[in-house]
Amino acid sequence: MDSKQAELWSGCSYLQTILANKAGFCAGVRRAFQMTEEAGRDGYSWSTLGPLVHNDEVVQYFANSGIPPVDRLEEIQTAGIIIRTHGVPPDIMAQATALGIQIKDATCPLVARIHEAAQLLIQEDYDIIIFGDTEHPEVKGILGFCQERATVIADADQARVWRGGRKLGLISQTTKDESQFYEVAAVLLPSATEIRVINTICSATRQRQAAARELAQRVDLMLVIGDRNSSNTKTLTMECQKTGVRTWQIQSAADIYPEALTGVDKVGITAGASTPDWIIKEVLDRMMEFGDGAPQEQQEVKPAIENESQETGENAKEENFARMEAEMADLAMPNKGDIVKGIVIQVLDDEVMVDVGGKSEGIIPLREMTTKDANSAKDLVKIGDELEVLVLRWDDDGTILLSKKKVDSKRAMDKLEEDFNAGNMVDGTITGSVKGGLLVDVGVVAFLPASHVEDGYVKNLEDYIGKAYKFNIIEFNRHKKRGSQIVVSRKKLVEEERARQKEEFWASIQEGQTVRGRIKRIVDYGVFIDLGGFEGLLHVSEMDHVRISHPADVVKEGEEIDVYILGLDRDKQRVSLSRKKLLKSPWEIVLEKYSEGDIVDGKVVRIAPFGAFVEIEPGVDGLVHISQLANRRVEKPQDVVSVDQMIKVKILSIDPQEKRIGLSIREVAQDLDDIEVQEYLEQQEQPEQEQELISEDAGGVSAQLQESPEAESPDQE
Ligand code: SF4
Repeated sequence: MDSKQAELWSGCSYLQTILANKAGFCAGVRRAFQMTEEAGRDGYSWSTLGPLVHNDEVVQYFANSGIPPVDRLEEIQTAGIIIRTHGVPPDIMAQATALGIQIKDATCPLVARIHEAAQLLIQEDYDIIIFGDTEHPEVKGILGFCQERATVIADADQARVWRGGRKLGLISQTTKDESQFYEVAAVLLPSATEIRVINTICSATRQRQAAARELAQRVDLMLVIGDRNSSNTKTLTMECQKTGVRTWQIQSAADIYPEALTGVDKVGITAGASTPDWIIKEVLDRMMEFGDGAPQEQQEVKPAIENESQETGENAKEENFARMEAEMADLAMPNKGDIVKGIVIQVLDDEVMVDVGGKSEGIIPLREMTTKDANSAKDLVKIGDELEVLVLRWDDDGTILLSKKKVDSKRAMDKLEEDFNAGNMVDGTITGSVKGGLLVDVGVVAFLPASHVEDGYVKNLEDYIGKAYKFNIIEFNRHKKRGSQIVVSRKKLVEEERARQKEEFWASIQEGQTVRGRIKRIVDYGVFIDLGGFEGLLHVSEMDHVRISHPADVVKEGEEIDVYILGLDRDKQRVSLSRKKLLKSPWEIVLEKYSEGDIVDGKVVRIAPFGAFVEIEPGVDGLVHISQLANRRVEKPQDVVSVDQMIKVKILSIDPQEKRIGLSIREVAQDLDDIEVQEYLEQQEQPEQEQELISEDAGGVSAQLQESPEAESPDQE
């Protein structure tokens, strides 16, 4: 749409489009279409005698496939001829046979029944009135069976001036208006001594007319799609006009111009029996440019049957028509929008072929198999599986494009609607995040607002992606066009679960227990820990035996730790916790780890006139008395050590009762000297031992060293 059109349409964003539930190809046309397509694959060359149906696009489609239309038998350049749905007079058939032309007869079986009815009437000596259009090929075909005893009457006015005979048989072109047919019958009644009326208007026409009439009464504008030469399309247009609604007959989407839609809120769409699905789809797509959301489909309309008795009667021919229509229904392929069952007959990675009972196979592309990610259709179905599928459209090559995904979605929506109405919980998996919340796969995609993820504020929504939960459906509107049709919530469920856990918690908890909890919040004065339904406080002073600057230095949010139940206040519902109680004290560590006489590393933490305090474990200091600072007399400790200096000290004494540790630097020096002397002495002894070893092996390695020039070391040189 260009900017001018967009401007024109700025006020029409709520244009609603409704497609008649009976529109487009009838069973007879679909059958002829399929027969012609099959002919295109059978290796012979074919033409159609006249346009296959009254639709230029269909005719062009087959001409492009090598099956052109010819007007007369003499023009035929192909091996065979296809007789179109309208049928032909018997002499044409005879002529073709005489010329050796192969015949594929796609005459609609309902038209063929009219031929039979005409022959029967002639046999029984009736003159025939055909209610129809003289120039219509179907009527020309019927005339051929009437042995020049038939008259074509176009309307009631012509019937009024017709001078009758003794016995009169009235039949109709299949696509004529039914009410007019009865009007003609009524006009003819006085003009003959006997009149036999056979309603040969086919139900496809009746149904399309009934649906169009019903729809026309509910819209501001009717669009009737069909070729300008199509009789049934003209009849549909006329039926719509009779309701008083503005009616516009178009051949394709290209005929729609926005200006004509100004002021229109609701548009009804119907299509003649020779209009292919792809043209209807193009028109619907075009209308979506002007409207708000996808077109709707008209609810089922029962055809008007006020004259049912006239239709059925006792006439055997009419019974035959009913039977034929039933047979036609069996032959009919599913229509766009139908949900049908099919059996999987082939599975490829990117598509599945399904037998849906007709002559053509249905194809489900991988993208239409499932709402979930899938790499191959082979992971989803196997040959022989029965599937429910939706008919999306007929492709140009005659295959039917199907969707399993849409049926699954529809079924899922039906079930969700039931659950919503019944207040049931549903299972779902969080699949992603969007502005303001999360997306949840509950069979279809639902929206979970951020405020409904938990019973309180959630800091990081991404943490929930990939997790499965139960949900309440808080909003369901399958007709909603903007925003999510399904909104779910965990809030109430989380609240209920918390209440249950809290009750369980207080029933089972005791002071002195050790429990596991998850760090939920860190504050300056401590940590709040989720104990499974209830939160307890671990004060910073209870976190460790040593001083902690901030709780975050020790733990992090989400971490699980063991805690000791220090105190319970059931009235105020408070729980105080301790981590310190579960940790070893520094003195316990010292007693386990160190013994008197050990030399250890430490840090000078404080200096006093009588010595220096040295930390050998976090929270445990020992004293190096001034007399133990060096091997000489020390005036002040600062002459030997300084605060923060790392030094080695020897543990002289450990007094667990008084929690005192005596340390010495002086003795470290002495001990280190002793160790050095010892190591020196050991090294002095070693060459003699080695010498002895060499002597014992005189003919071995040493001998080789002396003999080999390469073995001489650089030192020797
Ligand atoms: S409109 Fe009726 S008679 Fe004509 S082709 Fe279709 S089914 Fe046959």
